[in-house]
Amino acid sequence: MTTATAQSKMTLPAAGEVKAAVQGQRALAAYLATQFETQHIQIFDDHKQAHQVELPTSALRLLVDILADSTPANDESYYLHYCHPNTFESEVLRSKGLTIKTCGCLFSAGYSAGWCSDAFQVEVHGREVRCLSRGDAACEFIMAPSARLDEYEARLRSGWS
Ligand SMILES: [Zn+2]
Repeated sequence: MTTATAQSKMTLPAAGEVKAAVQGQRALAAYLATQFETQHIQIFDDHKQAHQVELPTSALRLLVDILADSTPANDESYYLHYCHPNTFESEVLRSKGLTIKTCGCLFSAGYSAGWCSDAFQVEVHGREVRCLSRGDAACEFIMAPSARLDEYEARLRSGWS
């Protein structure tokens, strides 16, 4: 079991990385809403010298998409709404030509919730509300303290036509 523990610690991002990813992806989502075909990203080399890199907007959209109604916080008000374009569960089912009747990306939902629980120091659970594997346009998730997931899912679904 020592090996599994060591391995999971190696693959988990640090709390600061998760927070930076959530904040960065929220900002990125705003820029990706523009109609430009490419975006310029500024990166820094080992000497802290800035460099501009031009990337197709479509490539940036391949990152996990944190949706604008998200309110990540270090307390019970935590709510995250996001799409995950390439879950391994949906990729495996797609590669085999299979579809399912319910959302199927349970591991991805739980894995992301584990990261965020650790990063935000509040226990949150993930729930997939739409899934590529059952024919939806994307794998879409919500994440919140478990006592509030039903409320958030109902609120979300009430806005769907
Ligand atoms: Zn899915």
